[in-house]
Amino acid sequence: MPLSNMAVRDIETVIHPYTNLARHREVGPLILNEGRGIYLYDDTGKRYIEGMAGLWCTALGYGNQEIAEAGAEALRKVSFTHAFGGKSHDGVIELSEKLKEIAPCPASKVLFGTSGSEANDMQIKLSWYYNNARGKVSKKKIISRIRAYHGVTIASASLTGLPWVHNDFDLPIANILHTSCPHYYRYGQDGETEEQFAARMAQDLEDMILREGPDTIAAFIGEPLMGAGGVLLPPKGYWEKVNAILAKYDIRFIADEVICGFGRTGNWFGTTTFGMKPDSISMAKAITSAYFPLSALTVEEDLYQAMLDESRKLGTFGHGYTYTAHPVGCAISLKTIEIYQRDKIMEHAAKMSPVFQMRLNKLADHPMVGEARGVGLIGAVELVADKATKRPFDPKKMVGAATVNALQEMGLIVRNIQDSVALCPPLVITTDEIHEMFDIFEKGLDQME
Ligand code: PLP
Repeated sequence: MPLSNMAVRDIETVIHPYTNLARHREVGPLILNEGRGIYLYDDTGKRYIEGMAGLWCTALGYGNQEIAEAGAEALRKVSFTHAFGGKSHDGVIELSEKLKEIAPCPASKVLFGTSGSEANDMQIKLSWYYNNARGKVSKKKIISRIRAYHGVTIASASLTGLPWVHNDFDLPIANILHTSCPHYYRYGQDGETEEQFAARMAQDLEDMILREGPDTIAAFIGEPLMGAGGVLLPPKGYWEKVNAILAKYDIRFIADEVICGFGRTGNWFGTTTFGMKPDSISMAKAITSAYFPLSALTVEEDLYQAMLDESRKLGTFGHGYTYTAHPVGCAISLKTIEIYQRDKIMEHAAKMSPVFQMRLNKLADHPMVGEARGVGLIGAVELVADKATKRPFDPKKMVGAATVNALQEMGLIVRNIQDSVALCPPLVITTDEIHEMFDIFEKGLDQME
């Protein structure tokens, strides 16, 4: 089919992130200008199920008029105020109170940004700042994990443990380390139980801490489940062991709840689902159901006290974005959380989870599927060339990408991470819609055989 006029203009002007730019010049963009509920519509009127909630973020689906109205009202009232120099507004005060109330960690204060990358970037800065303030100047290294995803700013991309985020960008920066990836299906050894694997992964972490010297390690960051690394669930007992190791060596524990936060795993936060004990959490995405770019992180009391001391010494807390605590973002987040609570969205997601997981698990019977894994309303299948030996496909064949392209043709938008294909629909999805989504998925897989 010839490319449309808008498609040609896109190719000539737009750089698309996480896109094969050479292929894009041939196939052009998928132009999506409209959405309702879990569906998006392209410029020819074709309907798609958004099986990835955008980028793991549109929890309440598209076209929510209440949120649109809350944003419009905030824009009409005061389009912009900032938070520098002690300026504030009702929205940021109310939202901070609300986030402190629901956060699954002992939060003293809340600090805002506009993206998940910024939130994690701030986490690194604050970890360094904290240790300088308390005189532990050598305690600076941050431990992340291979296959983690924490963003793309220079510092947060360094935390990310995926080669294509580092290669040719001269990353990672100094002081960022990556410990083993706890993906049992792929990295478990023959005869090793899931619990033994979890213990080995925790031991790898402890060995790294001891090798580097505990006095050099400031923080550890982890997603409750690894999302953009392939929806990798923690093996049984993993977080319990990691909690204990981090506490033992006085290492700040940051939970990156950018995907898991606000209902994705069946609870408000993945931290609760998996029994993590973080000092601080990063949030973004579903904090506004992606109706506005906003992120936040919680600041624990010790860290806040150190920030106070530094502020007395240095005259200011030297950090802030123009759009820190944007009033429109705060109003939209407050309305989103109000809807989550009023309409019992977390309960709805938890109720839909068994239907979603049942259909996901059924995919494990497919000859191309090595593993189907998930929790709550998130999951993935890992496609393999040989089910019995778990042998992956030749990467050059790009089977995951081809599967996603075929599914898109059939009206289902999902996302591949190499040969894993992820599913993460809006939390408002219904039973019928879950079946419709998996019916397409099954047909698509059959076509790939
Ligand atoms: N952290 C996690 C767990 C993520 O999944 C993402 C994005 O997908 C980020 C951080 C980065 O967020 P953003 O793309 O808003 O910068």
